[in-house]
Amino acid sequence: MDSYKLWIDNRDVDALGGETFATMNPATGVPLATLPRAKREDVDVAVASANKAFATWSRMDPNERARILWKVGELVMSKLEELARLEALDTGKPIANARLIDVPRTADTFFYFSGWATKLHGETIPVRGPMLNYTLREPLGVIGAIIPWNFPLLLAARKIAPALAVGNTVVIKPPEEASLTTLALARIMAEAGVPEGVVNVLTGYGEEVGAALVEHPGVAKISFTGGTETGKIIMRAAAGTLKRLSLELGGKSPNIVFADADVAAAASAAVTAAFYNQGELCTAGSRLLVDRAVHDQVLETVARGARALVPGDPLDAKTQMGPLISAEHRDKVLGFVKAGESEGAKREAGDPRPGGDAGYFVNPTVFSGVAEKMTIAREEIFGPVLSVIPFDSLEDAARIASATEFGLAAGVWTRDIGKAHMLAARLRAGTVWINTYNRFDAASPYGGYKQSGFGRENGRAVLDELTQLKSVWVALT
Ligand code: NAD
Repeated sequence: MDSYKLWIDNRDVDALGGETFATMNPATGVPLATLPRAKREDVDVAVASANKAFATWSRMDPNERARILWKVGELVMSKLEELARLEALDTGKPIANARLIDVPRTADTFFYFSGWATKLHGETIPVRGPMLNYTLREPLGVIGAIIPWNFPLLLAARKIAPALAVGNTVVIKPPEEASLTTLALARIMAEAGVPEGVVNVLTGYGEEVGAALVEHPGVAKISFTGGTETGKIIMRAAAGTLKRLSLELGGKSPNIVFADADVAAAASAAVTAAFYNQGELCTAGSRLLVDRAVHDQVLETVARGARALVPGDPLDAKTQMGPLISAEHRDKVLGFVKAGESEGAKREAGDPRPGGDAGYFVNPTVFSGVAEKMTIAREEIFGPVLSVIPFDSLEDAARIASATEFGLAAGVWTRDIGKAHMLAARLRAGTVWINTYNRFDAASPYGGYKQSGFGRENGRAVLDELTQLKSVWVALT
């Protein structure tokens, strides 16, 4: 079992209290790594380091910042295999996906935001009187980043790259279940020339080190991705210091298939939309709303597709379904399967027993006959459980789609261009995909409506959230 350290000032350090905790290999249930259990006093050290580094990093020639961030992207790509392996081992996701998505998209994020380092500027504003008025767009200071375990490497990049591009520094708390690639990324960043203190990594538990980061007066903003309930706790805790917040939270996204769509394409994409990354995806298309006219056809294809997904060792390139992140999470997901059955939904695919002998596997499960009030139709499951729900009209589909407290994403499948655009405007979700699903790009803004959170990541939009505007007045006479 490998043992790891905190990363402060570009150095490996132990937690001041000397405590550690172990993480498991989700595919085997065997301990994988020992990590320091950071607490409040470690947050003090890391935040002081990041504030010190802010003084120089924020004033550095932006061309130089851009060059360093581009170099991070190049180094990430040069270590693609190593990072993909580590992510698959730590999270249980299939290595084929980590090679294709997690690592290259991490590099893309650094390439894209590297460009913004030199492109953000203020404005001159025509005002009354003999005055020159202009704005300066300035970084905030230390950004506290808190991320979940489903895409730790990519989500770390989403938080760090834009923050650094505009001159902030970062203290990041990776998820206790899967911290290894965040630590590896920080090391790569040092190799690329990121100065000491600009990125610090504190491993440990959310209620300890995470909560201390949220409360710390030396942190200017918390950028959080995780569950909606945790988001609410963080929002309350941030009030003490009136910290800025971005919250990327949970979802229960509708994927809507009309009878006038390319139904075969929609049904096949619905399988990936629901089960990609074991369904441990905030935007998972976990409610498949299907026009009653094609319901049976879609249901049959989706159930067949779910049964065909190949489970196995995440490190095997043929594996399509890895284990879930932990025994506790597997049991929670199986609890939802049980609730679906006891509330009267019909299981069309997925043996309710856990798959495999060891590890935290759950078989991809498809339910039909799901009523809107059922638990599986309302709550975020964050696992491989799909609810298929019929609808009778566009109005019906739009109503069911929005009948949830979440508003992260939605999919619409139709060949009617007018209907597609009408729904794109009507659906209360931060992202709408038309005749596709789960498309992301570092250039395109991403975030939630309603209780899926607020603030945007990626694209130009995130830069406004990581900077503040200063108005400067100069008397001309
Ligand atoms: P979680 O909320 O339990 O944990 C997320 C992070 O918050 C972890 O690092 C955890 O240690 C930390 N944390 C927990 N309690 C804290 C506290 N009191 N103060 C500060 N930090 C605390 O979520 P999870 O189980 O790791 O991840 C699953 C959730 O994340 C799902 O709800 C999913 O939808 C959501 N998610 C959202 C997005 C998005 O972009 N909207 C992306 C991925 C995952």
